[in-house]
Amino acid sequence: MPYKDILERRAANRRSHRKNSGEAKKRRLRLESSGLCIKCAARPRTTTSKRCEICSQKHASQIRTRKLQYVLEGRCHTCGKPRDNLNVQRCSRCTNRTRPKAIIAGKARRQADKLLVFNAYGGCKCACSGCLESNIKFLTIDHINNNGTSERKNFGSGGIFYKYLIKNNYPAGYQVLCYNCNCGRGANGGICPHVELDANNN
Ligand SMILES: [Zn+2]
Ligand SMILES: [Zn+2]
Ligand SMILES: [Zn+2]
Ligand SMILES: [Zn+2]
Repeated sequence: MPYKDILERRAANRRSHRKNSGEAKKRRLRLESSGLCIKCAARPRTTTSKRCEICSQKHASQIRTRKLQYVLEGRCHTCGKPRDNLNVQRCSRCTNRTRPKAIIAGKARRQADKLLVFNAYGGCKCACSGCLESNIKFLTIDHINNNGTSERKNFGSGGIFYKYLIKNNYPAGYQVLCYNCNCGRGANGGICPHVELDANNN
């Protein structure tokens, strides 16, 4: 339920606080442990929600309507307070509350993907015979056929590229190289200067 006025909203918050303490809270806890819907107390709760199927659908639609109302009124769609930046759909407080979490989660996901991909292409070590680099921070996926530029255009780079490789069950044509060997190979017509050096020494 949308409240146009901030005072109205505060009053609603107070009401909901009362609802969430004392007798009402006891009732909710009792229902939660019994496996019944905390709203109607008649039907069993679903596995993903504290409410039954019908009540959780009703609840979701209420939230949808409220969000829509907030957006229509030009307010933050999460908390309903006025937005400080009209180009962003949420107020700065709500944005700051979720953004760092999202960034950290995204970074961890990309890191996990990177590890999966490296393990599929021979593990965390540079594939160049003249190089011992095994620090993952120095390693990258190298396109054996030297078509990195066109592939980056087709499949994206970084996290998106790792996702593409995982989804396609690690297609052939890639290897793990350190950035040094990767660049060296690129600048030296496809052969890392390390390998050339080896050949000259023998
Ligand atoms: Zn219910
Ligand atoms: Zn907000
Ligand atoms: Zn290397
Ligand atoms: Zn090398």
